[in-house]
Amino acid sequence: MPVKNRFAELQDEITLWRRDIHENPELLFDTHRTSALVAEKLQGFGCDEVVTGIGRTGVVGVIKGRKTDSGKVIGLRADMDALPILESTGLDYASKTPGAMHACGHDGHTAMLLGAAKYLSETRNFDGTIVVIFQPAEEGGGGGKEMCDDGMMDRWNIQEVYGMHNWPGRPVGSFAIRPGAFFAATDTFSVTFGGKGGHAAKPNETIDSTVMSAQAVLALQTIASRNADPVDQVVVSVTSFETSSKAFNVIPQSVQLKGTVRTMSKDMRDLAEKRIHAICEGIAATFGGTAAVTYNRGYPVMVNHEVQTEFAAEVARSVSGTCEEAPLVMGGEDFAFMLEERPGAYILVGNGDTAAVHHPEYNFDDNAIPAGCSWWAEIAEQRMPIG
Ligand SMILES: [Zn+2]
Ligand SMILES: [Zn+2]
Repeated sequence: MPVKNRFAELQDEITLWRRDIHENPELLFDTHRTSALVAEKLQGFGCDEVVTGIGRTGVVGVIKGRKTDSGKVIGLRADMDALPILESTGLDYASKTPGAMHACGHDGHTAMLLGAAKYLSETRNFDGTIVVIFQPAEEGGGGGKEMCDDGMMDRWNIQEVYGMHNWPGRPVGSFAIRPGAFFAATDTFSVTFGGKGGHAAKPNETIDSTVMSAQAVLALQTIASRNADPVDQVVVSVTSFETSSKAFNVIPQSVQLKGTVRTMSKDMRDLAEKRIHAICEGIAATFGGTAAVTYNRGYPVMVNHEVQTEFAAEVARSVSGTCEEAPLVMGGEDFAFMLEERPGAYILVGNGDTAAVHHPEYNFDDNAIPAGCSWWAEIAEQRMPIG
């Protein structure tokens, strides 16, 4: 069973939606235009219910099958937000908003789920209910969590959830997935080392927070190399080093470090947090200074559920012939919150030989539309067969 013919017919139309969204990127929760467009389309398709304002600017559409005797309800989720990047693709439908860009392909995700919603509303060839979920603020704002916190899962009695992300470097329209931990927990930390500033020519009269911070940058790497079990994954990256004085001849009063931690398990996450405190506070004590550590937990590890992952892979094989095992991804994914609330799976669909996501030259490949839409539609029809 290859891609559905209907999506080959709809591809041009869906491509136009995608390019319109691409031209009008919106950040975080400010997806007002995109949300309105999504709601208007869903209403036009004849969805049984369309609700806006879930998780601030999220949109939910309900499509009942020809039969609903099974009592099954499945959620299909796409993200709508863009990134604060200055686009340099030179496309004729490039961003009209300088400094905002659909550099992660969420324009493609939204357009593909709209395409699936159009098809499913037309055909309703399933026994149960489909809930299409369009979330804002995937790129750091936790929009998926806000939709869950708004009671979305219980309100529509959603029993399983599925998500999809395009993936540069994989053949267009091919699929890859893995069960269990898939995307990393993404945390941030900041450390302010305090000392005693003074004249750079008289270091003996100061407590040098720059020296403490330099030690800390190196010592933090021992979390991965000396504390973590070598078969587990952890990334600790210091990404900002800011001294309170920029002068050549001043030893600064304080230095602030910032960074990110990526882990694939709760134990490793706890260990990383504990060690960042111990290392920074220990170094500060050694040099007679202070360390104020703040550790912020972001998105949790995204864990694919076994049964739904196997099903999602089966559906992918029915659409594209094969479904590969995906490698671990040390990036984060807000869909993790939905997978904490309900069983489900998240799959990658190939975007071909394009620039990487989050790059100013990235673009979603519209040739992935038939495969992506077919996967969504087949999830509904194969998981809730009309019998
Ligand atoms: Zn992204
Ligand atoms: Zn993304």
